[in-house]
Amino acid sequence: MRFYSTNSPQQTVSAEQALFHSMPADKGLYMPIPLPQLGVDFFERIADQSLADIGFEISTALFGNEISKEELENLTHQAFPFDTPVVDLEAGKGSVLELFHGPSLAFKDVGARYMAALMSYYSTRNDKEVNILVATSGDTGGAVAMGFHNVPGIRVSILYPSGRVSDLQEKQLTTLGGNIQAFEVDGTFDDCQAIVKQAFVDQELNNALSLSSANSINIFRLIPQGFYYVRAYGQVRHHNKPVVFSTPSGNFGNLSAGVMVQQMGLPISHFIAATNRNHVVPTYLKTGKYTPKASIATISNAMDVGNPSNFVRLAHLYGDDYDRLTANISGYFYDDDQTRAGMKQIFDQFGYIACPHTAIGIMGMQEFQVETHRDVVGVALATAHPSKFKPLVEDVLGIDVVVPERLAVLANRDKKSIRIPALYEAFKDSFLSTVA
Ligand SMILES: *Cc1c(COP(=O)(O)O)cnc(C)c1O
Repeated sequence: MRFYSTNSPQQTVSAEQALFHSMPADKGLYMPIPLPQLGVDFFERIADQSLADIGFEISTALFGNEISKEELENLTHQAFPFDTPVVDLEAGKGSVLELFHGPSLAFKDVGARYMAALMSYYSTRNDKEVNILVATSGDTGGAVAMGFHNVPGIRVSILYPSGRVSDLQEKQLTTLGGNIQAFEVDGTFDDCQAIVKQAFVDQELNNALSLSSANSINIFRLIPQGFYYVRAYGQVRHHNKPVVFSTPSGNFGNLSAGVMVQQMGLPISHFIAATNRNHVVPTYLKTGKYTPKASIATISNAMDVGNPSNFVRLAHLYGDDYDRLTANISGYFYDDDQTRAGMKQIFDQFGYIACPHTAIGIMGMQEFQVETHRDVVGVALATAHPSKFKPLVEDVLGIDVVVPERLAVLANRDKKSIRIPALYEAFKDSFLSTVA
C-alpha cells in the first residue's frame, strides 16, 4: 500500500512516511492506493466478529506483506480491547452505533489507538523514540493521551489552554503520567496550535528529536474508523434492507472513513451528513457552493468547525464530481433548540440517552427516512457517551447521568502539568529539559 497526496497524485510515499508525517509537503492530504477490495464472502462472515477481528482482516488486506500477520493481529487487538455495538431504537428501522466504549468515551479513541499501535510498531523496529506533539481544545487530546498511554517507544506532549477545557477533559490530559506530559499554556487553543506548528519547523529541535503529530488529518486515524462501519453492517445485515449511515460531522473525518470503506466494497446504500449550525457541507450538498466560514459555538461543540479539514478528502473520493457525491450523501443540520428538542424526543420515544452530537445524527437519520426512504435500516453513529456532556444532558432530560467508572476514577487523581506562558521559546526550553 502506498499513499499519494490529493495535490500530486503521481507521487507516492510509504505507509510509514504517511503515518509519521501526516501532512504532505504540498499541503494536500494523503490517500491510500490501491484501495483493496473486500470480497462478498468477507461481509457474509462478519456478523460474529469483533472490532479487533475485523480490523485485523482489513489491515491484512491493506498492508499485505509489509507487516507480518502476527504483528497486525497483536496491533489490532492491542488497539481495540472494546467493541462498537449497534443498539436498536426500533428494530429493523433505526439504530445507533455506539462508538464510546473506549477509554475516553468518544469515537476518537478508535483512530487514536490504532495510530498509536502502528507508531509503536515502527518506532520499536527502528529503535528510535518518537515524540508526539499535540495541541488540543479538549477532546482530541484526551483520546490521544489515553490512546498512547504506556505505548512503548513513544512520548506524548500535549499543549492545552489553561482554564479553557472542562475539568474531566483536563484530568484526562494531566493525570496519566508515564509517557504522557501536559503543558498548560496561559493562552488560547490557537496559541497552543501556533507553538506546535513552530516546533515542527524548528530545525534545531527536529535535528535533536524525532517529532511527529497525531492530528486528525492523519490518514491512519481515518482508516480504522472504517472498521466500525463494517462491524455495524455485520450487525444489521440480517434485516435484508438497504443500510444507511448517519454521521454527525465536524471535520468530516468520520464520514470520509465511511465512504472509503464503501469504496472497498462495503454495501452501504447511502450516507447522511448531519451537522449543527456549522453547516458548510449540508449547504454545499444542497446548492453546490462550498463557502468555508468562521466557526459558530454550539452545544455540540466537537462539531463546531467552519472549514472542515477533511472536505477535500471527501470530494476527492468522488473524483471531485458533485453529482456523484450528492447521489451518495444527503445533508441535514440543526440549531441548538432543535438539538435539545431532538434529545428529548429520542429519550421520550425510545428511552435512549443521546449526547448532543449523537442526537444530531439520529435526527438526520429520522428526517431522511420520513422524507423519502422508509424501507431502509438507519444506523446513526453515537460519537460520544452522554456523560461527557453531563450538565447539558441532565438539564435537557431532567435525569441523572452516570459517568462510567473508567473515566470517573480520574476525578480523584492529582493533576500534573507544566505551566508555561504562550511563548514558543518558553515551551521549547521546558520541553527540551523534560526530554533530555
Ligand atoms: C470529533 C467529534 C465529532 C466530529 O467528527 P469529525 O470526524 O470531525 O467529523 C462528532 N462528535 C464528537 C463527539 C466528536 O468528538
